[in-house]
Amino acid sequence: MISDLLRKSEAYAEFRNAVVSGKTSHAYLVTGDDRVTRKAYMILIAMTLLCKRGGCGECAVCTSIVSGANPDVHIYNADGKMRVDDANALVAEASMKGWGQGAKLFFIDNAETLSPAVQNKLLKLIEEPEGDAVIMFFASGESPVLPTVRSRTKKCYLPLFSSDEIYGELIEEGVPRAQAEIAAALSGGSFERAQKLGGDEEYVARYDKTFEMLVNCKKSQDIARYLGSELFNKENISLTLDFTEIILKDALIRASGSSARLTTRNRDYDLDEIASGTSEGALAMAILAVNKARRMLAANVGAVTVAETMLFDILEAKYKWR
Ligand SMILES: [Zn+2]
Repeated sequence: MISDLLRKSEAYAEFRNAVVSGKTSHAYLVTGDDRVTRKAYMILIAMTLLCKRGGCGECAVCTSIVSGANPDVHIYNADGKMRVDDANALVAEASMKGWGQGAKLFFIDNAETLSPAVQNKLLKLIEEPEGDAVIMFFASGESPVLPTVRSRTKKCYLPLFSSDEIYGELIEEGVPRAQAEIAAALSGGSFERAQKLGGDEEYVARYDKTFEMLVNCKKSQDIARYLGSELFNKENISLTLDFTEIILKDALIRASGSSARLTTRNRDYDLDEIASGTSEGALAMAILAVNKARRMLAANVGAVTVAETMLFDILEAKYKWR
């Protein structure tokens, strides 16, 4: 479960130590892009603060937190539309005694969308804390948050996960293996991205096709076959470039005999095929060709031209660096 992974993270260990030693801060700023991880972190933090056993995951308090029914846990701004009225309601709520014996928690999601007026209202609560109220802002980064709020909150950084950890989690969630492999490979450490990709079978077909192309595209005459395919239409090309880069990087790792961890799974045979008859230098140049393709796309060059240039560049590198 994501929460099991989070429990092992540095961010959580630090928080838990503070709770155990009675040094919990009353205001936090948690940064991290991954919304799925953020949500799991909110639940874990609430369990740690409110459960008598420090977040057992089984008692009535923990269960109520997981189901979103605990009266001492408040999540604001999930839709990014928090207004001054809502901030006033939050401050009023914070001044009232909690239902349980523990703290009262206020999670402010998407803090980067808060207006200065809302942040200033909340600043009052940060400067003059009410009893056991804990306010925790979640944002993609620190910079959109007002300096006055930033300087008065304790900082915390959500972890990124390895593709192995994400793969394991997706399998546990029942995502089919082939989809989980791709989603984990492309997640960049984000569960939000992994779940989005893991939910779509079409990605599997395109990922396989990208492998097939890199294995079989050996001469310039082969290129035409792929240019008109769904890999390189306007909507898909960007993801195809991501697939291509991941595969080429793994082929380079295989070719160099390095012990670095591969991003792809169970594709060693294909990777060796791609690396055969070429050199490490050529593979490195091929990866540069993918980056050049991204720059061309960003400069509004047509998808087919970008694809054609990239595939020619990859073949050319192969010949030059044999
Ligand atoms: Zn519990």
